[in-house]
Amino acid sequence: MRPLIAITCSFTDGRMFLNHGYYEAVEKAGGIPVGAAPLRDKEALSKLIDRVDGLLFSGGPDVDPRRFGENPKPALGEVNPLRDEAEIFLCREAVKRKKPILGICRGIQLINVALGGTLYQDIQSEVEKPMKHSQQAPRWYASHDVVVSRDSLLFRILGSERVAVNSFHHQAVKDVAEALKPVAFSQDGIVEAVESVSGEFFLLGVQWHPEEMWQEYPLQLKLFEALVQAASEK
Ligand code: MN
Repeated sequence: MRPLIAITCSFTDGRMFLNHGYYEAVEKAGGIPVGAAPLRDKEALSKLIDRVDGLLFSGGPDVDPRRFGENPKPALGEVNPLRDEAEIFLCREAVKRKKPILGICRGIQLINVALGGTLYQDIQSEVEKPMKHSQQAPRWYASHDVVVSRDSLLFRILGSERVAVNSFHHQAVKDVAEALKPVAFSQDGIVEAVESVSGEFFLLGVQWHPEEMWQEYPLQLKLFEALVQAASEK
């Protein structure tokens, strides 16, 4: 059976939205994508997790630094408290139930914060000698490389130590949550992927946007295929 994959959506100005790359990639990988609203009702969110086979945390606004015990710095961007609240709950519950999880961009950051990690609120102002992580090239274009640890789920999926990625983030993972390990870095030392330390179930976050790349860089579709595969074994 084709697994149901809940994809968290953005929510602003009274509208919920999701870029087509996400649901098309999940569909192409063999899953059935379902857009998940940032509901306030925790019981409803809990039932949603029961019914889906996997979750995809999508890109979006900054994670509120209050969620990891910091005040907002001047370069913090837009935050969405309702989305943070719903997604942190979804992530913690999904981890408890060992549901397969893929996080993309904001998604990797959200997973890290939900599990107790912290973020750079703004790479340019907090990291020494940073690279450009907010590319102005086309969205599908791989503007920098990441180096992938050989001993990782990510390496087993992509089969390569050096992977070309796009980059649209000014936040990044800082202190990695205890349950996670960093498995890919850019040249300036920014964490570009994390996964579960225990490896008990599929839990992977990537800082780039594979959903914008897979048509041009077919390798990137493997991330969605890995999620769908894990979700169909659940
Ligand atoms: Mn980057």
